[in-house]
Amino acid sequence: VFLCFQASISQGEQAMYKDPMQPIEARITDLLGKMTLEEKVGQMTQIERENATANVMTSYFIGSVLSGGGSVPKVNATAKEWVDMVNRIQQGALSTRLGIPMIYGIDAVHGHNNVVNATIFPHNVGLGVTRDPQLVKAIGAATAFEVRATGIPYAFAPCIAVCRDPRWGRCYESYSEDHKIVQQLTTLIDGLQGQAATDMSGMPYVNGKTKVAGCSKHYVGDGGTANGINENNTIVDDSSLYGIHMPAYVDSMAKGIATVMASYSSVNGVKMHANEHLLTDHLKDKLGFQGFVISDWEGIDRITSPPHSNYTYSIQASITAGVDMVMVPYQYIEFINGLVDLVKKNVIPMSRIDDAVTRILRVKFAMGLFDNPVGDYSLVNEVGSQKHRELAREAVRKSLVLLKNGKPGNPPLLPLPKNAGKILVTGTHADNLGYQCGGWTIEWQGVSGNNWTAGTTILDAVKKTVDKKTKVVYKMNPSEDYPKKTKLDFAIVVVGEVPYAETRGDSTNLTIPDPGPQIIENACKTTKCVVVLISGRPVVIQHYLDKIDALVAAWLPGSEGQGVADVLFGDFGFTGKLARTWFKSVDQLPMNVGDPKYDPLFPFGFGLETQPKSAPQGIKREL
Ligand code: BGC
Repeated sequence: VFLCFQASISQGEQAMYKDPMQPIEARITDLLGKMTLEEKVGQMTQIERENATANVMTSYFIGSVLSGGGSVPKVNATAKEWVDMVNRIQQGALSTRLGIPMIYGIDAVHGHNNVVNATIFPHNVGLGVTRDPQLVKAIGAATAFEVRATGIPYAFAPCIAVCRDPRWGRCYESYSEDHKIVQQLTTLIDGLQGQAATDMSGMPYVNGKTKVAGCSKHYVGDGGTANGINENNTIVDDSSLYGIHMPAYVDSMAKGIATVMASYSSVNGVKMHANEHLLTDHLKDKLGFQGFVISDWEGIDRITSPPHSNYTYSIQASITAGVDMVMVPYQYIEFINGLVDLVKKNVIPMSRIDDAVTRILRVKFAMGLFDNPVGDYSLVNEVGSQKHRELAREAVRKSLVLLKNGKPGNPPLLPLPKNAGKILVTGTHADNLGYQCGGWTIEWQGVSGNNWTAGTTILDAVKKTVDKKTKVVYKMNPSEDYPKKTKLDFAIVVVGEVPYAETRGDSTNLTIPDPGPQIIENACKTTKCVVVLISGRPVVIQHYLDKIDALVAAWLPGSEGQGVADVLFGDFGFTGKLARTWFKSVDQLPMNVGDPKYDPLFPFGFGLETQPKSAPQGIKREL
C-alpha cells in the first residue's frame, strides 16, 4: 500500500504542468506536448451551461462554459447554488485524462447582473458621466468579488465601445462618444483582474480568489457602425480606426487584459471574426496581446450570410484570422468535428491550434485555475453586500446630469426641500426596479417591475429621504387635473426608455415611449416639476423642455435608486457632465464633438451644478 501511494505521488509530481512552483510558460509547454488534437480543439470550445453535462465535458474535452444572456442554473438561484453548479461542471472537466480545468464566463457588465440580489451598478453610459477612474476601478473590484463569490472566474467586461451614434441599441454599454473617456475608464480592468499586470503571466496570481479574468469587447469599431445599426459595417479611415476605436484596446493591453471578444460588426466590409489583419497582425503581433481572442455568441456563424450557411468556411476563416476560443453555445459537436477535420486536412496548421491553446492555457494558469479549480463558498455573502451597494449609490450620485434647473426668470427648483407639505411621485419608471436597471439584468433584455431582487426604486428613495411629515403621493399615470386637485408642492416625474439589449434596442426615432410624454404633460401643467429621465442614451426632449422646471438625466442607474434622491434633495450636489452629445432631433445623427455641423441641444460636457445643502462626509478611496 505504501509503495502504491508513493508511486502515485511521484507520477503526479512528474507532470510538470501540475507544479505551481514552475513558471507558467514552462507549464504550458509541458501540457501542450501531452495533448491530442481533440483535447486541443476542446480547449478552444465554449458551450452554454445547460449543455455542460459531465458526459459532454469529458467526451469533448470542453475548455470553457458560459451563461449567455440570462442563463441561470435555476430561477432565483442563490450564490451557493451558482457555486454548486460551476463546481459540478468543473468536476466533469477535471475528470478528463489531463484534468484541465474549464473556465466559466458570464456577462457581468454592470455588476453581477444575472444573479438575484447582486449589486447592480449604473450601466456604462452613466459611469462615463462620472469621469472617475478610481470609482470605476472600485466597481470592477466589487463586481469581481460578487462574480467570484458565485464560483465564476471570468467576466465578459468591460465593453469599451466608443458609441458614436445613440441610435445603436448598445449605446448604454459604452462609456462615451469620446474615446478619451473610454480609455480613462479602462480602470475597470484593474478592478476586475487586479493591477500591475504588464502581461498575462504577470496577472496577480495570489488574487485568484477575488479577481476575475476580464474581456475587452467588442473588438473593434462596434460603436462606429453605419447609422448606429447593431452588427453593421463600420466605415472608417485609419485615423478614426486607430485614433477613436483602437486606443482603449491599447490601454487594455497595458493592463494585461486576459481576453478580447471579436465584434459581430465589420470594419470596411470585412467581418471582424474573419479579420486576420486586425485580430492577428494588429492585436496579437503589433500590440503584443498575450491572452486569448474569444468569438462572440455564434459570431463565427455570422461570417456568412445567411448565418451558418457555410460553417466549414466560418470555422476556417475565424480560426485562421486569429479567433482562439469559439463561443459555440449549442452546435459544438459540428464545430469540434469541423475544426479537427480542417487540421487533419492541413487547411489549418497545427501551429495555429497550438497558439490558440497556449493562449487559453496561459489565462487558466495565470488565474490559478489549475491549482484552485474548484470554487469555495467563503465569499457567498459578498453578493449584494452593503459595502457594494454604497459604492453603487455613490456611482449613481455622480452619474446624474442636471440639464435644466428652473424656468427662465424663476429660481432654481433643485435641490428640492425635504420639508414640503405634499409631493407627487409619478411616471412609468418611478417605482420599477427593472426599468431602472435596463437590459442585461437577470434577463438578456432586462426585466420589468419590482420584487425580483433587492434594491431601491426612486419612489422608495424619495419616501426615505423626505421629512416624516411630508406626504408623498404616488400615481403612475395621473390625469390632467390630478396635480391641481391634489394641491401639490411639486412633482417628481420619472419616465424613460424600457429595457432592451443589442439589436432590439436599435432605434431610429429615440422618443420617450408612451405614456411617458403624456405623464410629463399632465404632471407639469399645473405644478412645478422635475423630470428624471431613465434612458440608455439621450432621447428627443426638445419639445418638452419649456414645459418642465428641471430635467435630470439619470441613465440606467441600477439597483440603488437612493443615489438619485440623495442628489435631488441636496444631500449631495449635482456634478455630472455629459459624456455624450445631446442632439435636438434624430436627423442630426450621428453628431459628435468636432463635426462641422455640431448643433446640439446640450453639448458634450454640459451639466449644471448644485451645492450640497450641508457638506457631506468625503468618501475616501485608496488609489
Ligand atoms: C453579446 C456579447 C455577450 C455574449 C454572451 C452576445 O450576444 O454580443 O456582448 O458577451 O452575447 O452573452
